[in-house]
Amino acid sequence: MLRTNKLNFKKDAKYDCEIENLDVVDITLKFSQSLQYATISQKDYFEINKTPFHNFLNYLELTFPLVHSKLKKEVINDYSLFYTWEGKGKDTNVLLMGHYDVVPVEGSTEGEWIYKPFEGTVSDGFIWGRGAIDDKAGVISTLYAVECLLKKGFEPDDTIYLAFGHDEEIGGREGACQISQMLKEKNIKIDYVLDEGGAIVSGFNKFIEKPLATVGVAEKGYISIELTSESSGGHSSMPTKNSSIGMLSRAIVNLENKQCTPTLNWVTKLFFESLIPYISYSYKIVLSNLWLFWPLLAYYVSSPLIKAMIRTTTAVTMVEAGVKDNILPTIDKAVVNFRIVPGNTAEGVLKHSRKIVKNTSIKVEKYGQSWDPSKISSLDNEGYAILTKTINQLFPGVPVIPNLVLGATDSRHFLSVSENIYRFRPLVISLEDMKRVHGINERIPIVDLVKMVQFYVLFIKNVNRIK
Ligand SMILES: [Zn+2]
Repeated sequence: MLRTNKLNFKKDAKYDCEIENLDVVDITLKFSQSLQYATISQKDYFEINKTPFHNFLNYLELTFPLVHSKLKKEVINDYSLFYTWEGKGKDTNVLLMGHYDVVPVEGSTEGEWIYKPFEGTVSDGFIWGRGAIDDKAGVISTLYAVECLLKKGFEPDDTIYLAFGHDEEIGGREGACQISQMLKEKNIKIDYVLDEGGAIVSGFNKFIEKPLATVGVAEKGYISIELTSESSGGHSSMPTKNSSIGMLSRAIVNLENKQCTPTLNWVTKLFFESLIPYISYSYKIVLSNLWLFWPLLAYYVSSPLIKAMIRTTTAVTMVEAGVKDNILPTIDKAVVNFRIVPGNTAEGVLKHSRKIVKNTSIKVEKYGQSWDPSKISSLDNEGYAILTKTINQLFPGVPVIPNLVLGATDSRHFLSVSENIYRFRPLVISLEDMKRVHGINERIPIVDLVKMVQFYVLFIKNVNRIK
């Protein structure tokens, strides 16, 4: 109870601020156009149709003329963009980033889209289309905000960089990774970075109903593991005891049953403790005494979201087995994807998988790229303070909660040039609507898009006022 009372204080402040009056029709129109370019990232980089990418870059130049005449623009690997808005004071620099490539629309789901995914239809107060949330809203609202400020003759004290990648959805190796490499070569260190990865989420968990502004201060690591099962094969009329598919299936089930142990990592602890001022007293007692109640929380919590925050997740994503109903296959494969919590490592997950599978006839190998969980960005930093202030100004009463990003963002490529990376889009979204991201009927409410532009205007102003 002592701990409960000690941790129970609210940190949000109230600010007066003028919110930008913006031309809603103009923003809607320009954003709708941006969704009409099918900038689709395919798994194989060389299979990507680059024409829409090329056209999208032309559209940006026409739509944001001041950004293109006043800021220095560098094009990396033909399609990724890096802008420099030189500050007068030059003592701090900030990077605002995003990506304009989108995931493909699965052929089988095309008919389920109410409006075609690459038409940018405006209807019922929404703008519909692939990329409406992930992440053209981030790119266009940032550029729109900078264009607005330039129109008013605003000159920043601090240097503002903008970076927009063209291959985030397939790992960002050709875009964000190269931009970061360029910064390293130029010896440029970034004071703080703002990327996608968090949002204002409602229906987050059973502890709290009100929306939370979740700011990603770290993100999970990633590894996929390929299981290869081999047997002598033959005709299905005379099967051997251990079929290749049977062995592979047992290995998959074992990996699902014996997952990595949940860990109370520093970010998740911080997340739970930050909720304390806003929840009922019984939950307050639980969350302020995680040292005591942690095992309860770890083992009895049912939400997949909370589960993913406290453990390295195991997801079987691909299986390739058999060719004909009367042939015993000789070789079968499965791929299992793990998202790694801080405290675990990619190497550790590979070892864990080998130990669990045990069966010597099944090969367990790393599949594709892997990386460890990110460093955790400090909350005791000007960047975090400015971000919190801007959220408080635009979304009064919404608690700002540090969080672990469960997916991967392009910002991880900048870990070598910045200590302070924050992942947040000023977008109000329910867990239900989140399924539309990478799913069907992706859309953004017009009011929310306008608020995003207001947010970046305010954020850039705040960056330049706080010293
Ligand atoms: Zn994204």
